Amino acid sequence: MHPYIGRFAPSPTGPLHFGSLVAALGSYLQARAHQGRWLLRIEDIDPPREAPGATSAILKTLEAYGFEWDGAVTYQSQRHALYEEALSQLRDKNRLYTCNCSRKMIVAVTPDQPQRYPGTCRNRNLLRTQSMALRLRTEDASLSFNDPVQGAIAHNIYREDGDFILFRRDGFYAYVLAVSVDDMQQGITEVVRGNDLLGATARQIYLIQQLDGTAPGYAHLPVACNAAGEKLSKQTGAIPLPLTQPVRQLCQALSFLGHAPPPELNQAGLDEFWNWAIRNWQLKRVPEKAISTASLSV
Ligand code: GLU
Repeated sequence: MHPYIGRFAPSPTGPLHFGSLVAALGSYLQARAHQGRWLLRIEDIDPPREAPGATSAILKTLEAYGFEWDGAVTYQSQRHALYEEALSQLRDKNRLYTCNCSRKMIVAVTPDQPQRYPGTCRNRNLLRTQSMALRLRTEDASLSFNDPVQGAIAHNIYREDGDFILFRRDGFYAYVLAVSVDDMQQGITEVVRGNDLLGATARQIYLIQQLDGTAPGYAHLPVACNAAGEKLSKQTGAIPLPLTQPVRQLCQALSFLGHAPPPELNQAGLDEFWNWAIRNWQLKRVPEKAISTASLSV
C-alpha cells in the first residue's frame, strides 16, 4: 500500500472563505483519517488574478484554524522549471502545437460548441512567437474515473474540450499544466477539492498519462453557495473567514460535509474539535450536492 498523500492548493486570489474552508477541511480530514500526509501548495501561477497579501492571509487563517501541513509550503511561482520540463517532454513526443486563435475566433468557428477548440491551428505548424498559446494534441478516446463522492464519470476530451491549452497567450502557464505536474511530482495519491473543478479533472488525468505519470484519485466535495445560489468566491463577495471562533466555522463546515458534530463541540477548543473530526470522518457521509447554506452564517 502506498502511503496516503493529500494536499490543499489555494490560489492566492483573496482571503479564504467558507467555501475554501470546506475544501481544506475535507482534504485534511481525509489525509489524517488515512494517517497520511497533507501538503500545502500555494497556486500562484496566475499573477493577474492574485491579490496582494492574500498568501500571508491564507497561511495565517489556516494556522488560526489549527491546520498542520507537512513539510514546507510549496509555491507554483517557484516551480516553473518543472512545467517547462513537462512541456519539453510533450514537445519531444510531437504532442504540442502553437496556436494564435483568440476566444472570439473559436466561438465564431463553432458557436454551438464554444467550449471546444475546433483544432484550427492543429496542422498549421505556426512558429512560436509572443502572444501564442501552446496546445496539447488530444486523441479521440474516452476516459473514465470513479469519484467516491460524485460517482462514475466518463469524458471524451477530444470531443468535449478539443486540444486544450497548456501555455496561455498572455505568457502564463495554464492551471491544468501546473496542477497536474505538481500533483504528479509531489506524489499526491488523492485530490479532495470542490466540485467546481470536476470539469477539469479528466484533462488532468489525461495530461498526467501523457507525461507517463500515475494520476491520483479524485474526490469532489459539494460546493458552498450563497443565498442567490452562486458559488462562494471573491467575485460573489464571500466573507473572509474570521480569525476568532474558528471552531464554530469548522463545525459548520463539517456539518456541510454531511457530519453531525455534537452541539457542545462548538464551544470546544481546537484540539478537541480536531480529535473528534479525525475520529469521526467518513468520506461516504459527504453529500454529492450542497445542502442549502442559507442556515449557515457564511
Ligand atoms: N487553486 C485552485 C483554487 O484555489 C484549486 C486547485 C485544486 O485544488 O486542484 O481554486
